[in-house]
Amino acid sequence: MITNQALIDQFNQVHLGNYRPAPIVIDRGRGCEVWDVEGKRYLDLCAGLAVVSIGHSHPAFQAAVAAQAGKLTHVSNLFHSEPPIQLASALKSRTPFSRFFFCNSGAEANEALLKLARKHFHLAGQRERKALVSATNSFHGRTMGALTLTGQPKYHEGMEPLVPGVSYVAYGDLAALEASVNAHTAAVFLEPIQGEGGIVVPDDGYLRGARAICDRAGALLFFDEIQTGIGRTGRFLASEWSGVVPDACSLAKGIAAGFPLGAIAVSETLANALPPGSHATTFGGNPLACAVALAVLDVIAREDLVGNAERVGAHLNARLSALASDTSLPVALAARGRGLLQGLVLGGGADPAKVLSAIRDAGVLLSLAGGNVLRFSPPLCVTKGEIDEAMTVVEGALRSAQGT
Ligand SMILES: *Cc1c(COP(=O)(O)O)cnc(C)c1O
Repeated sequence: MITNQALIDQFNQVHLGNYRPAPIVIDRGRGCEVWDVEGKRYLDLCAGLAVVSIGHSHPAFQAAVAAQAGKLTHVSNLFHSEPPIQLASALKSRTPFSRFFFCNSGAEANEALLKLARKHFHLAGQRERKALVSATNSFHGRTMGALTLTGQPKYHEGMEPLVPGVSYVAYGDLAALEASVNAHTAAVFLEPIQGEGGIVVPDDGYLRGARAICDRAGALLFFDEIQTGIGRTGRFLASEWSGVVPDACSLAKGIAAGFPLGAIAVSETLANALPPGSHATTFGGNPLACAVALAVLDVIAREDLVGNAERVGAHLNARLSALASDTSLPVALAARGRGLLQGLVLGGGADPAKVLSAIRDAGVLLSLAGGNVLRFSPPLCVTKGEIDEAMTVVEGALRSAQGT
């Protein structure tokens, strides 16, 4: 039998060193469960970083891949195919946006928004509007534009020079935003909830305030919904909780449940901001990826996974809040999040990486965000029973981390 260790030894010989994966090799999945190559089962509440929205190996996912792969996988943007047309129409009916561009990842979606903002004002004759504003502690991806928008110096180190024209404001601070947005600002990029930064939920009114500031200054407001979108927070888009409609948003992670696909969704006023030839991608919006995303959206609607995210997410938040307020558990500091994007803030001397690996050894997959936050981003089909199973493991790991 092939072992985890044999494959990991091989990995270490043939991969670059930019990742530090956990020492297990996952072989197969079903719903919220995965198994490693040695047959050990894990409850997967990480879902490939909030990606596997409909659960692993969903029959509708398998059928969509097989049917489209057997018909047509790629034609390039030189020709039409039906799936991207139907996918854009499906997204139009579920969001306040009317125009879409498909790419292959989250970072690429944010690159497209960055270019769109500058080009829009260039075409409108406002050539002085080049500046972009994003938040400290944000995460927008790893390509140079998206990396520059990412307001975390540790990701910039050694990669400079960055893209010019980007400045940062403290997340949640409307006065700082007001002071930074002016007649030179093309767009403000914000996550409705900061994901990688540690599941940071802004105060009510922050996103509404940001909308007002951008409107007064004539700047565009973009939401990065790559982690929060497609039902994750218990609404199709997290922006719905705030009642704010941004000028555009970026999507990726959950949209095709593991098939690589990114998208930008923009309002009708920006329909002509990227004229022919101004932006493109060879693979983006290929019929295979779009057919899978259509099947994913159909499963999300049929199985009411947005409603499930709200209901089971409230249960998860209640369980995490109980840990955080348990005085016999000083390592659990606070619970925060919306729907099925929840974080448990660790403190009290606990080593987050050790807690994470103890939880994994006990059969539950999670991830860390913001250094000291245990992130729960399960498939949107997770049940209360699966959450309860995981919470027993999490509580046990926290108690042993503090030696009680
Ligand atoms: C994951 C993520 C990205 C980057 O997506 P990639 O597909 O890894 O390029 C950008 N923004 C947010 C909010 C994310 O969570």
